[in-house]
Amino acid sequence: MDFAPSAEHKELCAEVLRFARAELNDGIEERDRASRFPRELWDKCGDMRLQGLMVPEEYGGVGLDPLGTALVLESLGYGCRDAGLVFSICAHLLACVVPIWKHGSEEQKRRYLPKLSSGEWIAVNGMTEPGSGSDAFAMRTRAVPRGDDFVLNGAKTFSSNGPVADVAVVYAATAPEKRVGGISCFLVEKGTPGFRAAQQFEKLGLRTSSIGELLFEDCALPQSALLGGVGAGETVFSESMAWERICLVAAHVGHMQRLLEQAVEHARTRQAFGKPIGKQQAVSHRIADMKVRLEAARLLTYKAAWRLDRARDIALDASITKLYASEALLDSALDTVRVLGGTGFMEECDAARALRDAVGGVIYSGTSDIQRDIIARWLGL
Ligand SMILES: Cc1cc2nc3c(=O)[nH]c(=O)nc-3n(C[C@H](O)[C@H](O)[C@H](O)COP(=O)(O)OP(=O)(O)OC[C@H]3O[C@@H](n4cnc5c(N)ncnc54)[C@H](O)[C@@H]3O)c2cc1C
Repeated sequence: MDFAPSAEHKELCAEVLRFARAELNDGIEERDRASRFPRELWDKCGDMRLQGLMVPEEYGGVGLDPLGTALVLESLGYGCRDAGLVFSICAHLLACVVPIWKHGSEEQKRRYLPKLSSGEWIAVNGMTEPGSGSDAFAMRTRAVPRGDDFVLNGAKTFSSNGPVADVAVVYAATAPEKRVGGISCFLVEKGTPGFRAAQQFEKLGLRTSSIGELLFEDCALPQSALLGGVGAGETVFSESMAWERICLVAAHVGHMQRLLEQAVEHARTRQAFGKPIGKQQAVSHRIADMKVRLEAARLLTYKAAWRLDRARDIALDASITKLYASEALLDSALDTVRVLGGTGFMEECDAARALRDAVGGVIYSGTSDIQRDIIARWLGL
């Protein structure tokens, strides 16, 4: 096993870090307060092809391997103080672009990947429904064959990027009696009759990433909208979740690095009782724990990313990595707030925003409970 970054990886990571620090951070407090998705920054990221990191160059992407993708996302999470924007990019890239790249027909790849990789088009993944989240395959959305078409009816909710998306990667039951094996995946473009993005939600964190509902009312789709064939939904979804559970948390690793540096800086400079607070063991040990979590999350992420296109089955690695790194980010965000004291609790403080943002991480892409269930199943329990 060798997951040392290559010279190309290192160069690209340094470039992305410079770009993120210089271009993506201004005005974060204001747009977080206003829950505004920064389309102009999305477009700048598109110029860097961040929305197409693993997409082969012939389809307009960067052509990185999974480890390279994770490393670049780590740099983005480290340099970019707007975790909502980073999340939007990851949701687009890992839950939408990956399935099209992996399962799309040549025609679908040529139609979608260049526009998605450049950020010209934004994608949304629609799996969760008002009545089914963790139990995702209990979905009610139906796709019924009618002549050469499928007719979609149903509603998706909590769909990240939904309100701003140009294309939706949507899961629907084509054979509900088969449950998991009866799910198919469809590509639905904005403007398709019978499809609309509806209610936009206000969230606790990740506020610069917009989220909403996707509604389908007698939405007729041609065969060419099917992704991966009839009944392939579970395969398409599981693969995209493996990518998301591994590469999205790479951005958490970068975020944890930034939080650690902030905590160390504060502990060195803030004086109490005649010395820096970092000289109090209660504070220094809290920060030591943050460092341990960071290194453990980083190693899990690199190992899982290295194995992503090598292992016969990656689901266990993906669940362990996602569970650990998302919980680690939440714990470290809370520890940073504690180290910063009252300053850390103030709305304008990065650590306060980080804490709000980190809560989402233990819910999306399968909650921590669901990751534990998957791990337990692997152990035969
Ligand atoms: C910020 C954010 C972004 C999201 N983006 C998207 C997106 O782009 N596309 C999309 O489709 N969805 C998205 N989601 C939805 C997300 O995937 C679901 O919220 C998540 O899977 C949980 O489903 P639920 O909300 O229905 O909760 P439920 O499934 O109702 O779970 C409620 C609670 O019960 C627990 N629970 C349920 N079943 C079990 C079980 N078998 N064992 C143990 N505990 C269990 C859960 O862990 C949780 O604590 C997003 C959510 C968030 C917060």
